[in-house]
Amino acid sequence: MKSPNSIELKTLQTEVDDDDEDLEERPRSTMKKHKNKSFLFYSIVALVLFFILSLIIVIVLASFYVVMIALSTTTSPTSPPTIDSFNRTTIKQTIQNYTRTILNFGTRVPGEIGNTNTQLFMKQIFSSLSPHWIIEEDSFQVDTTRLIGRMSPFTNIIATLNTTNAQQKRKIILAAHFDSKLFTGFTFLGASDSVASCAMLLHLAQWFTLHKQWIESSPFTIQMVFFDGEEAFINWSQEDSLYGSRHLAQQWQHQQLLSNIEVMILLDLIGCNAPMPSFYDFPHHGTVGSKWYQKMVQLEANRTLSTKYYSQHTYFHSTRYNTFIDDDHRPFYERGVPIVHLIPIPFPNAWHTQSDNESALDYEVVTDIFCILGRTLLKQFGFQF
Ligand SMILES: [Zn+2]
Repeated sequence: MKSPNSIELKTLQTEVDDDDEDLEERPRSTMKKHKNKSFLFYSIVALVLFFILSLIIVIVLASFYVVMIALSTTTSPTSPPTIDSFNRTTIKQTIQNYTRTILNFGTRVPGEIGNTNTQLFMKQIFSSLSPHWIIEEDSFQVDTTRLIGRMSPFTNIIATLNTTNAQQKRKIILAAHFDSKLFTGFTFLGASDSVASCAMLLHLAQWFTLHKQWIESSPFTIQMVFFDGEEAFINWSQEDSLYGSRHLAQQWQHQQLLSNIEVMILLDLIGCNAPMPSFYDFPHHGTVGSKWYQKMVQLEANRTLSTKYYSQHTYFHSTRYNTFIDDDHRPFYERGVPIVHLIPIPFPNAWHTQSDNESALDYEVVTDIFCILGRTLLKQFGFQF
């Protein structure tokens, strides 16, 4: 039901409105015309002003943008990335993923499918960083019939950072072997011998790609070498070991590429925590190799930095360890190439046993060593830590 009072009120309101219109009808009609003209004039002025103001703002913003673009492309980077830009979790996970992928290929004795798949995987990583890396292969065969009853194919993988004037730059080589030792009776995966080292190098390649502009202005460039056939098929000897490194050193000698090497940093047996790894300054480092090794010692000794590490253990010792350990560096060392040999003393407990699988690895330790090595190198390209 509607209330009668509401109807009355509505009627009354209508009447009042009508009266109001009657009273002011004539004078308001002339005023309205004047008002309309003025309103139109001011509206046009306001619109023109608004348009001019908008144009000025657009021009100022566009000029600012152009100046910023010009500055970013013409000046060299001045602010190095902070320590936080190297996310420890990302490093650890990436190295873990690469290690697992390679370990899942199975054993990697030269000629085995696991060896071939590892090569393909490593090349795939560098291809994904294209065009920043140049990939080369050094393939050859050796008659190993006397040892294992068949010929053996070997392939060293070489990846060079594709910088301007790379030919004129001195090469810092990072190297590790990717083959695994032949064992009969059990499956030998060689997680620390040397899958973890290869995984570290693959991730370092990503670091260097990311910060390539710093390396461009440096006298050095980076080369990664993944050696095949480091292990002896039967017993370690001059003939039965270091198949890949012996071949490559000979090739480079013929091509006169050895004198252009600043240092070869060889990683081997890295990844275990039993015992915690300790590196030393070896006699085969020579003067230049020792200088590079001591840079790593100094970087680790930095207290502020060491607190960022998982372990308070000292990995890089400044002391000399007067023993020559035979490894892939030897063919290059014998030809005068400066060496840094990153191999723990003593060797891991899992060395050349069935236990050298993923369970023997401590990715926190791997990440620590990765950070010390990576930061030492990046520092040479102008980074400040
Ligand atoms: Zn080995």
